[in-house]
Order: sequence, then C-alpha cells, then structure tokens
Amino acid sequence: MTEKKANILVIEDEPTIIEFLRTGLRYEGYDVLIAPEGKRGFDLAKHRGADLIILDLMLPDIDGMEICKKLRAGGNRVPIIILTAKTSVTDRVSGLDTGADDYITKPFSFEELVARVRALLRRTGHESEKTLLEIEDIILNVESMEVTRDGSPVHLTPAEFSLLELFMRHPKRVFTRETLLNRIFGYDFAGDTNIVDVHISHLRDKIKDKPPKLIRTVYGSGYSLQPERE
Ligand code: CA
Repeated sequence: MTEKKANILVIEDEPTIIEFLRTGLRYEGYDVLIAPEGKRGFDLAKHRGADLIILDLMLPDIDGMEICKKLRAGGNRVPIIILTAKTSVTDRVSGLDTGADDYITKPFSFEELVARVRALLRRTGHESEKTLLEIEDIILNVESMEVTRDGSPVHLTPAEFSLLELFMRHPKRVFTRETLLNRIFGYDFAGDTNIVDVHISHLRDKIKDKPPKLIRTVYGSGYSLQPERE
C-alpha cells in the first residue's frame, strides 16, 4: 500500500503529551506537526492545512475554543478532536457547538485517542482504513468492537480489545511492556508493568491461545503476535 497517510496537527503545550502523541501517531504512520501555542496552531491550520487537528483547550495564549470557533467561522471543516481536562467537560465542551467533532478527556490512553482519529479520518474519507482486521481465524471488527475466533464470539474488556487490536495492526512487531502500558493505559498511568502480563494472560485465555502461541512472549523484551506457525 502506497496510500498517503494523513497529516495531523497537534496544538498542545504540555511536553509530556506532545511527546506521547508525536511518538504514537508517527508510529501509526501519520505525519505529525506540533504547535505548542494557539496562535501558531491557528496559523498552521489556516495556511498549511491538516487532515485532522488535535486541539488542547488550555493553551498559553489563545484558548482552544477560540481557535475552533475561528476556524469554523472561516469555513474550515477540518475534523477537530478537543483534548480537555475532565472537570471542564460539562461547562465547556458538552454541546460541541464550537464545531469540534469529538473530544477526549485527559488523562487518556493512546489507543482511545487513535481510535477516534481513525474513525474521523474514515468519515472524512482521508483514510480508507480497513474496519475488519483478520489474522488466522481471528476477526476483529474495529467499528462494532466485536471479536470472533473460528466464528465464535470472544468477549474482551476494553483493555484486552485494545491490546489485540494493536497486535493485529502490527503483526510480528515486538512491543515492550512499557510501550504496551503506555499505549493502553495512558501517559500518566502510575501502575506496574506487571498489569500488562495480567491482561495478556486474560487475552490469551479468552482467544484460547494454545502453543505455539499466537501472542508470543519475547523473553527479555515483551510480546509479539506471530501469525506464522512453524
Ligand atoms: Ca494545555
């Protein structure tokens, strides 16, 4: 596939979140442009353009809401996902009347965010992304969040589903526990990486993963989905 990946403009001032988004989105193959201030973000959106904008509300100069309103007032229809602290959801974002397409509350996990990004890009036709992922006899439906193995439904928790989706999107790649923790539970998750082992163990049970396992433990590294059986 030589399909051109979407350009994502991230307007955000917190260094931790910038790094988290930059790393994750590039890993998924998107072109990422960062604007740490509102004015620069607005100018980039207006003059350079983007296929999608991730917009923080609390910026050092212009308020994120103002940026959104100004872009829409100027006829810009780019999909916008707002990042906001939980406390400001009801009073500020509830109606999304500023013209944003979606919002996500901080702290968020990368998988949560990227699912919204994919959904919006699919809707606007920037990405003809497959909604069905298939490996061996496992089928994962990204939109309905249903999983079947050999035709039988597999009931997964959101964390297990995110793990399986990540593995199925990147077969054969080795993910460290830290990467998995970061992607599934978010940039500020304070728990131990052992939680990853617990979720993997549940996931393997639920998909009835028998040796040679589909989800392999890579000793000293992490986990990897290995579809080809020897
Ligand atoms: Ca901020």
